[in-house]
Amino acid sequence: MKKKILICNRGEIAIRVGKAIRELGHISVGFWTDNETQPPHLEYCDQWIHLKGSSNTETYLNMDQIISLIKEHKIDAVHPGYGFLSENTEFSKKLEELGVTFVGPHAEAIHKMGDKAISKQMAKDAGVPVVPGSTGEIESAAEAAVIAKEIGYPVLLKAVAGGGGKGMRVCVDEKELDKNFEAVRREALSSFGNPGVLVEKFILNPHHIEVQIIADNNGNIFHCFERECSVQRRHQKIIEEAPSPFIGTDEKLRLEICETAVKLAKAVNYNSAGTVEFIMGEDKSFYFLEMNTRIQVEHPITEEITGVDLVANMLKSALGEELDIKSQEEIKILGHSIECRICAEDAHTMLPAPGKINGFETTFGQGIRFDHCIFDGLEVKPDFDPMIGKLIGRGHNRRVVLRKMRYAIDGLYIEGIKTNIALHKLILDEEKFVSGHYTTNYISEIKPQDGIADLVKTENLYMKAISIEANILD
Ligand code: ADP
Ligand code: ADP
Ligand code: MG
Repeated sequence: MKKKILICNRGEIAIRVGKAIRELGHISVGFWTDNETQPPHLEYCDQWIHLKGSSNTETYLNMDQIISLIKEHKIDAVHPGYGFLSENTEFSKKLEELGVTFVGPHAEAIHKMGDKAISKQMAKDAGVPVVPGSTGEIESAAEAAVIAKEIGYPVLLKAVAGGGGKGMRVCVDEKELDKNFEAVRREALSSFGNPGVLVEKFILNPHHIEVQIIADNNGNIFHCFERECSVQRRHQKIIEEAPSPFIGTDEKLRLEICETAVKLAKAVNYNSAGTVEFIMGEDKSFYFLEMNTRIQVEHPITEEITGVDLVANMLKSALGEELDIKSQEEIKILGHSIECRICAEDAHTMLPAPGKINGFETTFGQGIRFDHCIFDGLEVKPDFDPMIGKLIGRGHNRRVVLRKMRYAIDGLYIEGIKTNIALHKLILDEEKFVSGHYTTNYISEIKPQDGIADLVKTENLYMKAISIEANILD
């Protein structure tokens, strides 16, 4: 039976979800708002609904309006994408009460895994290694100082409800801990509506390694191997790859981290697509960080190396259909994949730079996928996340993907706004990145962004040279 599935999101992920809904033979429904009257995702939607208002609070975060539209339009299921209401327990519960399917895990999993303190305790109970520090919330700077003394500095203060790299501060000594404690609590309350904070050991020179989970309602829980997301700015990912070059050929370690993720997913009776994030030290010991109970930005690289359509399977699982996958053994790593997040931001400062796009062209080679919401004339608004596209490459091995990605990034033209394309060009050619030996300190230590000015100069000279050549040919 055809189901009417509402995409409660915008941008590239709304397009990705729209494609999957249609491919499965269902009816895709999308929103437009007063802020974005003709969003590109509507091209992948069979029905368009006006979500009134301009700001995100009035629209994509407005549960009351969304719920009443769901009733009015007799929606069967809702895909939340990432961000917005994707990890909101209240939203998923409200839908459940209405008899509308939430395309995500059951509400209790969202609740437990959405709180970094509760999930840490759960992980500990399930025998999953966690970062040394407090498991529960801490009430005062003095309490944090006692724990910090035990585990040793540097420590990290972290908002239990945090996300998107926000609500975190590193403290190197007690003085800093004292100074930062109230600030993190205040930030946590204003950004996430929850002042809860935990303190944990700040792992030095670590790797961010995460495991993709896909599960159904019949207790089948599979992993689709790992991704490495250590190229980050402000604790936010910019380049991801699968499999992890740090784990490399250590199949024992790979199996261990993937099975640990499955163990945690089992402990919460997980029943959707989700990601278990770990931090891995230089000595390859790894600790649970958090679980994201939704589809993640970087899911395509896993799709590229395993061939598993994560969005389609997430939908199938929610609709009570059988997954495409029947056993863990079916899922294999075939080759390598890298994703560059294309953001409307200054390539050097990495700060958002909204504006209007007035030129967009792509010339890619074989093995490239571009998940994006870009068109000539698109106005990139400051209201939304600056990420406008994801350039994804796949190939036989890492070296081949690097080659493909370099050619593809050179063939990506976005005019009118600042983007981080130049930064990606530099990283894809940078020695440490190319060797695969990089940690989450990569951007702050190697500073590839310092090469932007020179790169731009060279490219301008090159453009000038080809235009002279064009003139000669004329
Ligand atoms: P990933 O999918 O790898 O976790 P991000 O951490 O960048 O990617 O998060 C995906 C999107 O969701 C981003 O747009 C980010 O700003 C947003 N986001 C993630 N967690 C939260 C949160 N707790 N509150 C608000 N926005 C969030
Ligand atoms: P978010 O919900 O914002 O994604 P995470 O807990 O996943 O928060 O952490 C985001 C990033 O911050 C990690 O990928 C890592 O780079 C860094 N980080 C988090 N916890 C630690 C830690 N204990 N030690 C070192 N780095 C950490
Ligand atoms: Mg995270």
